[in-house]
Amino acid sequence: MKYESSRGKYQGLTSAEVIKMGIAPDGGLFVPGFIPQLTEEDLVLMQDFSYQEKAVHILKKFLTDFSSEQIVNCVNSAYNDQSFDHVDIAPLVALNRTTYIQELWHGPTCAFKDMALQILPHLLTTSSLITGETDEIVILVATSGDTGKAALAGFKDVENTRIIVFYPEEGVSEVQKRQMITQEGKNVLVAAVRGNFDDAQNGVKQIFNDRQMGELLKAKHKKMSSANSINWGRLLPQIVYYIAAYLDLRQKGIIKKGEKINIVVPTGNFGNILAAFYAGKMGIPINKLICASNANNVLTDFIRTGVYDRNRKFEKTISPSMDILISSNLERLLYELTGHDAGKVSFWMEELKKSGRYEVDSLTKEKVQEIFWAGFCDDEATIKTISEVWQEYAYLLDTHTAVAFNVYRQYVEKTGDNTVTVIASTASPFKFAGSVASAVLPQELRQDKDEFQILDLLASYTGLNIPPGIKDLEKKPVLHKTVCDKDEMKEVVLKFLE
Ligand SMILES: *Cc1c(COP(=O)(O)O)cnc(C)c1O
Repeated sequence: MKYESSRGKYQGLTSAEVIKMGIAPDGGLFVPGFIPQLTEEDLVLMQDFSYQEKAVHILKKFLTDFSSEQIVNCVNSAYNDQSFDHVDIAPLVALNRTTYIQELWHGPTCAFKDMALQILPHLLTTSSLITGETDEIVILVATSGDTGKAALAGFKDVENTRIIVFYPEEGVSEVQKRQMITQEGKNVLVAAVRGNFDDAQNGVKQIFNDRQMGELLKAKHKKMSSANSINWGRLLPQIVYYIAAYLDLRQKGIIKKGEKINIVVPTGNFGNILAAFYAGKMGIPINKLICASNANNVLTDFIRTGVYDRNRKFEKTISPSMDILISSNLERLLYELTGHDAGKVSFWMEELKKSGRYEVDSLTKEKVQEIFWAGFCDDEATIKTISEVWQEYAYLLDTHTAVAFNVYRQYVEKTGDNTVTVIASTASPFKFAGSVASAVLPQELRQDKDEFQILDLLASYTGLNIPPGIKDLEKKPVLHKTVCDKDEMKEVVLKFLE
C-alpha cells in the first residue's frame, strides 16, 4: 500500500513515512492510494474476533510495511484492560430495536479521541523504527480540551518521544484542566497560555514554522510532529470501530448479510465521520452517513448546498469539541469523491484560504448527497434531548452525542427511514457534567455546587459510576503549574527540551 498527498505533489510513500510526517509538505493530507476491500469471507471470519483481533486484521491491509508482529504489538499496547474500562473496548448499547449507541469513551480520558490517541504513539515509534529515524519525536499540541489530555495519556512515558501541551488559561472546563495539570509521566509538559484557544494554536503554529527552532532541535537530535487528526495514524484506528459495530450487529442477528445500516456522527473536524466513510468504502453496507453539527453548522450547509463557507460567527456551545469552522478532513473526502483529482481539490482549498469559501461542482455535490445527510441543533435542543432520552430510555447522553441523537430524530421524521442505526457516542456524560446535570437534575440540587460536587451528585442521582479517568480528580496532586504569555511559548519549549 502506497500513500499520496491530496494536493498531488507527493506519491508512493509508505505508511511509516506518512505517519511520521503527519501532514504533507505541499499542504495536503495523506491518503491511501486505493481503499482495500473486505470480502464476505473477511467479514465472516472477523465476526467472532475480539476487538483487538479485528483491529489487527484491518490495520494489516493499510500498514503493509509493518510486520505482523509490529501491528499486534501496537494494537495490544493500546487496547487493553489497563487503559479501557470495558472488555469490548467500543461496546454497542441497544436503545430499541433499530437504534444502537456505540460508546467510544471507555478509554483513559473518557472521550473518543482515546480510540486513536492510545495507538498513535505506538504507530509513530514503530514508524520511526521502520524508517531508521533516530531523532527523538517532540509532539506539540494546542488544545481546547479533549485532544490535549488524550494525547498526554497516549504519549506518557512512550520511549523516544516527548509531549508538550498548551491550553488556554481561560478556555477549558475545570474537569478538563484538572485532567491535564495532574498528568504524570517523565516526558510530558503541560502549560497554560494567557489568552484563548486561537492564541495557543497560533503560538504552536509559529513554533512549527520557526526556522531557528528547527535548527536548534536538529542539533539536539529532535524532530517536531503533530498529534491532531490530519495525521493518517489518527484516522486509521477509527475505521476499526465502525466495522466492529457492523460485525457486532451481524453476529447478534440484528442485521442479515448485505443489510445496510445508518451511522450518525457528531462532527467537528470531520475525522470521525470520514472514518465511517472509509469503512463503507471497504465494504460495510451503508445506507446513510448522518453528519450532526451544533450551532457551528458549516457542514450542514455544505452537505445541503455544495457551498462551504466559513465566513460566519464562531459560536461557543455546550458541545465545545465540535466548535469548529474549518473541518480539515473534508479535504480527504473531496479527494476520494473526485476520483483523486488533486487539481480540483487544490483549487478549492486555495479558494478556502483566500476567501473562506468554495463551491464544489454539481457531480461532486450529488455524490456527497448520495452518501451523507446532515442536520444541526442548538444548545437548548441539546439539553432537551439529554432530558428526553434519559426519561425515555434511562440512558444518559453527553452534550456531543445528544446533538447526534437530535439530528437522527430529525432525519427519521423527514425520511421515515427505519434502517438499523448506530449513533457514535463520543464522550462520557461525566466529562460534561455541568451541562448534563442541568438537563436531568432539579435546580435545587445543583445550585451553589462546583463542577466536582456536580459529578458526585450526577452519579448518585442517576446510579451511574464516575469513570476512572475523572473520579477523584480534585484529590490528585497538581504537577504542572507553568503559565506563560503567547510570546513565551517558544522559551517554555526550549527550557523543557534542555
Ligand atoms: C473531537 C470530538 C468530536 C468531533 O470529532 P471530529 O473527528 O473532529 O469530527 C465530537 N465529540 C467529542 C466529544 C470530541 O472530543
